[in-house]
Amino acid sequence: MRYHDITKDDMRNGDGLRVVLWVSGCAHHCRGCHNPVTWDPSDGLCFDEAAKRELFCQLDRPYISGLTLSGGDPLHPANYPEVLRLVRETKEKYPNKTIWLYTGADWEEIWKLPIFQYVDVCVDGEYDETARDTKLMWKGSKNQRVIDVQATRTQADPSVPRLYCGDYAPDYDRILEKREKDAKNRRI
Ligand code: SF4
Repeated sequence: MRYHDITKDDMRNGDGLRVVLWVSGCAHHCRGCHNPVTWDPSDGLCFDEAAKRELFCQLDRPYISGLTLSGGDPLHPANYPEVLRLVRETKEKYPNKTIWLYTGADWEEIWKLPIFQYVDVCVDGEYDETARDTKLMWKGSKNQRVIDVQATRTQADPSVPRLYCGDYAPDYDRILEKREKDAKNRRI
């Protein structure tokens, strides 16, 4: 697996302050994608033991809420086996931290994948620039869904996503502003 970046103290890709792994490789090629540089699975850096150590070092910090996998698409065939190993190991090592996963695939196509036993929240669906709205919480376009994976998996029909949150939070901007301030204070 290859990756483009490990972002520290990220507050825009899931709840709380998070570590984000931006993997290489995405076959969705959505028009208006915010990150087309990540489409080529052979681009970027090798996700080796040193990269994993760096990621775990960030997750060791008590105020970090968890790991977000984005890209690129973590479920791209070039990424899936290693992403599966990584989320399994992360969940074993940090059972109280959450794992979020962004993918261009729809939940209805992917809900049976074994990886979802370790994922807390999945943001699904291709980015649709005609449904873009910068006020949406945790997602770029309205068609995408922020899915509570474990609540969904325990339902009678797990192919029907149960949402983790609605499209908007009335005080989303204020929350982000406060987190930005807190993160800056921690770095001083
Ligand atoms: S799924 Fe995400 S990374 Fe892939 S093309 Fe669409 S917006 Fe870009």
